Amino acid sequence: MLKNKKSRKKIPVSAPDIGPLEKKYVAEVMNSGWVSSVGPKVKEFEQLFSKFVETKYAIAVSNGTVALDLALEALGIGEGDEVVVPTLTFAATVNSVIHRGAKPIFVDSSLYDWDMDPQKLESVISKKTKAIIVVHLYGIPAQMVKIMEIAKRHKLFIIEDAAEAHGALYGKKMVGSIGNIGCFSFFANKVITTGEGGMCVTNSKRLYEKMKLIYSHGAKPNKSIYYFHPVIGHNFRMTSIQAALGIAQLKRIKQFLKTREIHENLYRRFLKNIPGIKFSPRPSGVKPIYWMHSILLDGASVDRKKLIMALKKQGIETRQFLYPIHKMPYCLKYAQGLFPVSEYLSKTGINLPSGVSLREKEIIYITDVIKKFVKKAI
Ligand SMILES: *Cc1c(COP(=O)(O)O)cnc(C)c1O
Repeated sequence: MLKNKKSRKKIPVSAPDIGPLEKKYVAEVMNSGWVSSVGPKVKEFEQLFSKFVETKYAIAVSNGTVALDLALEALGIGEGDEVVVPTLTFAATVNSVIHRGAKPIFVDSSLYDWDMDPQKLESVISKKTKAIIVVHLYGIPAQMVKIMEIAKRHKLFIIEDAAEAHGALYGKKMVGSIGNIGCFSFFANKVITTGEGGMCVTNSKRLYEKMKLIYSHGAKPNKSIYYFHPVIGHNFRMTSIQAALGIAQLKRIKQFLKTREIHENLYRRFLKNIPGIKFSPRPSGVKPIYWMHSILLDGASVDRKKLIMALKKQGIETRQFLYPIHKMPYCLKYAQGLFPVSEYLSKTGINLPSGVSLREKEIIYITDVIKKFVKKAI
């Protein structure tokens, strides 16, 4: 298939794996007639997911962004409050804070794990600070012990944005289960997908009940009275069709994660000792998952834009790293200080094709194109 240019199929940067099990479960739910959030499927997905991440409670929501909105609202974050966030993250992490009327306070990343640097965290905490959103970027768990210790000392809540890290371990704990509330995304490019979808997990009964109240029109979940709303709420619910898809994906997640790890190791093997190419850190005491296969172009001789173009020409889709969010026009007013590590990662990083359907042959092909390009550049 990869022999000549014309018949070569394009390699996407990420593709979901939707198989017979997903189709079967979705068809079953369609046939049952329970297509909204009402019915048994959403509950079943929540129970399976809370078992997977080892938390007492889980609430399925319509996407990962509203999972963050729901978490912040349940923690009572609002106007006048400050929430500490990493600047190197997906925009939704930060936007959820701004939508609450609160102020995002940016922290630089660490080279140790590409996540929020605990050493740069304490100096940005003020009297107004109420919470920290920790992001386990690209599947690498953040330094939770250090961050939790600081949070405890200043009495701050912790939300874990685990949208890119389903199944990653910090010590023996699943990420998302460590802070007050963990948020996940099931967008099509995430480790498991429901098309669009998300989940909030917690071990706190109080926070669970609060989220449960807010996420469905502010109505009491056990409906003794209809159309009475003690508080103002939203509709953040997930449908049963999404939940059915999610149940099938969750049943396959262990294999997904294993396959992704194999792919990462193949990339590392084929690009070993190539000057100027660095892989993601593997800090001790944690087990990252490989949502993306990331490399940094650390050598001055390799031009990232040109490499991305060269790969594109060969039918290989990639992504440059995220932009630091303090650089977004609407965040300039919040940004204080310098973020050299985030800027370095943002400028040098490339995400290579990932996903369960990727083949070893394709990884050989991709890494050959990279090797040839680097050789020419030197
Ligand atoms: C994907 C993602 C989100 C948002 O999830 P959606 O389901 O797309 O709304 C939030 N935070 C991070 C870090 C993400 O990668």
